Amino acid sequence: VIDCVAMTLTSPRYIGVDVGGTKTLSVLVELPPHGGHPIVLDRELLPSRADSDEAVGMIVQAVTALMERAATVPAAIGVGLAGFVDRHGIVRSAPNTPGLVGMDVAGELGLRFDLPTLVDNDANCAAVAAHRVVARDVDSLVAVTLGTGIGGGVVLDGRLLRGANGFAGEPGHMVIDPDGPECPCGQRGCWETFASGTGLGRLAREAVVAGRAPNVLAAAGSVEAVQGEHVTDLLHTGDDGALEVFARFAGYVALGIANLILLLDPEAVVISGGLSAHGELLEHLVGAELDTRFATSVRHRNVKILVGPGGPESGAIGAAILGAHRQAG
Ligand SMILES: [Zn+2]
Repeated sequence: VIDCVAMTLTSPRYIGVDVGGTKTLSVLVELPPHGGHPIVLDRELLPSRADSDEAVGMIVQAVTALMERAATVPAAIGVGLAGFVDRHGIVRSAPNTPGLVGMDVAGELGLRFDLPTLVDNDANCAAVAAHRVVARDVDSLVAVTLGTGIGGGVVLDGRLLRGANGFAGEPGHMVIDPDGPECPCGQRGCWETFASGTGLGRLAREAVVAGRAPNVLAAAGSVEAVQGEHVTDLLHTGDDGALEVFARFAGYVALGIANLILLLDPEAVVISGGLSAHGELLEHLVGAELDTRFATSVRHRNVKILVGPGGPESGAIGAAILGAHRQAG
């Protein structure tokens, strides 16, 4: 007991904030030295806001609440959000929080709290969390977040891959079918038009129109109303139509992953996000596709495919870890 108390008093604490589409999760985390397992001491869940003042205000409110409850000042603050954050910390795009575009959010928070502060892409946060929490023995990994779209982060040879602008590791808009469906980004056939939650919904509607998924149609009520959830909700019943759609979806997930493996040669691919709730089935289907259809990509390699191991707090924990990197300089 005494050892635990001593560690609590001496390990540095950080606050990590994960600004999601509807909710903002903030955690107070202890990061033991030498890459030890992060310990979440407290958490605060608040609604996300699109407006710039309200969005920053919500982060300030969460950080303040965590500091007051613990009667502690963290060593640094890290914030993760969906979108592009450039090397200077300026938010360049933010689909969930458009009010933050053009803002130096880290600068604003740094002034408010007088602490080292960093803002980064949420998938980069997920990648460093995966590296520290679930794949500690791995030097190179690709983290892929399957949600409404697809996020990505790459840790290569132990370092988060940044690129010229800080935008490296965005596989969602790799084009995998030039004649494919229109993507909101303006291109056609992006990976995320097939292998995200939105993509699963599209594949499900195709199957329904072809008469191959009658129970998915019955669950949704009409073709237009069919969403990815109508498929995933039926998976546990063993419904043939739902399983066929999900297998096709997994084929597209595997296709993108195969390309990433060829380009980056990771030891592990970590899949997180809403669709990783069906982890065992997805892991099995993706693994089978990689071993057969994409054998060329994985031959001579021993790539671990890990689905959904990080848990819902991994984005916020990763933000705290990146905050710690900022503090370390
Ligand atoms: Zn796109």
